[in-house]
Parts: sequence; structure tokens; C-alpha cells
Amino acid sequence: MNVVVAIDDLHPEQGWGCEGDVQVDYLRSLNDEFGVKFTLFCPSYYHHKCKLTKDWVSYWKQFDWVELCNHGHYHDVKKYTFDQIGEQEFLELNHIEATERIQESMALWEECGHTPKGFRSPGWGITQESADVVSSYFDWVAQHELHNQSINFGVQNFIGCDGIHEKENISLYGKTFMFQSHIQGDWNDNVWNEKNYLHFQNMLNYLLSQYNELQFKTISEIK
Ligand SMILES: [Zn+2]
Repeated sequence: MNVVVAIDDLHPEQGWGCEGDVQVDYLRSLNDEFGVKFTLFCPSYYHHKCKLTKDWVSYWKQFDWVELCNHGHYHDVKKYTFDQIGEQEFLELNHIEATERIQESMALWEECGHTPKGFRSPGWGITQESADVVSSYFDWVAQHELHNQSINFGVQNFIGCDGIHEKENISLYGKTFMFQSHIQGDWNDNVWNEKNYLHFQNMLNYLLSQYNELQFKTISEIK
């Protein structure tokens, strides 16, 4: 069985995926103990405040058990308000706007020395025009099984988002368990705090007791 662990929203801000953060220590110990790999979805200019930096990208790229992916640019909306659509950046963009947004994001990624292969839309939602643009820039997208059902992507689409905090009804997609989480944030239950870290450790021990072998992979590795 494959096990994928995805984490959203990492960016260069203390507590959101920087060296020395307790959340990062949890990931490193899960890699040490089980060989867990992580697929990290990073907004490139989070809330117009935190731009990716070369140092930050290099920190993560030193680990062969991490894949860095695109999670939008601002992770924020402009035409609509937060109350209307949350932070679903690509739910308000037409083809031209989405093209500009992705180009801006990818230019920054390239300046920092990395070209992401995968994409997850902030807050899941996306317009068809944005999905067309995304499909021309990335090899695959990671999706929620219930969102965007009427949207067509021209690239491989990975679904699955069992929270790292969930206790039962973990789904198997083909041969893959797809866990999802957030690096932190008051509005999510699946964040990397101590309680969830310990729970997930137990979950992995349970899965190991049920299956002969677990293969930890990043999403690009199961493609
Ligand atoms: Zn997000």
C-alpha cells in the first residue's frame, strides 16, 4: 500500500514551516521513525505578505523525502470577500487573470530554484477557465472527491483527503491512502500539533499492523 501525506499552506513565516518550528520537528521525526514522505503545497506570496525565498525553498529541497508543490500565489481573494468564498483564489479568476497569476507564481518559484509539478487550489474551488490554465502548467492536480465535480482538468487528478486527525473510515484510493493536513491555522482540525502528531503516529502503527508493507511516497512518485 502507498501512503501519501500532503500538507497545505507552508510558507516562510515562523510557525508555518520554517526550520526550528515544532511542526517541522514532527515531520522530521515521522520521517526518521517510519520513512514518511511529505507533499507540501505552498502558496508563493501568502496573503500578499510572505513571499517564497530561495533560502526557504533550499531548506526543504535538501530533503529527498519532500516534494514542493504549487498552492496558488496569494491564497486570498480580491473581487469577492472572504465571507463570500473564503480564500479560494482561483474561484474568481478568468482565463487571462489565472494565466497572469500562475505565471507570477511560477516566476517566483523559478527564482527560488524550483519548478513545482503539482497543484492544489487554495480552498479547493476553481473556475473551469482557471482549471484550463492550471492544466497547461502542471503535470497533476490534487483534489477533494466532493469539490469541483463539474470541472474538467486536462491532467492527472489525484483525489483523497483523509485528515491526519481522523480516527476511522480512512479511505483507500486504489492502492493509496491519501492523508491531508495543514501546517497550522485556527480554522482547521488537521493541523500539525502535538495531539495530531501522536494520533498520526498511532495511525501509522495501526496501518503497519494491518498491511505487510507501507510505501511512503510523494504524489509525483505515485503518478
Ligand atoms: Zn490552503
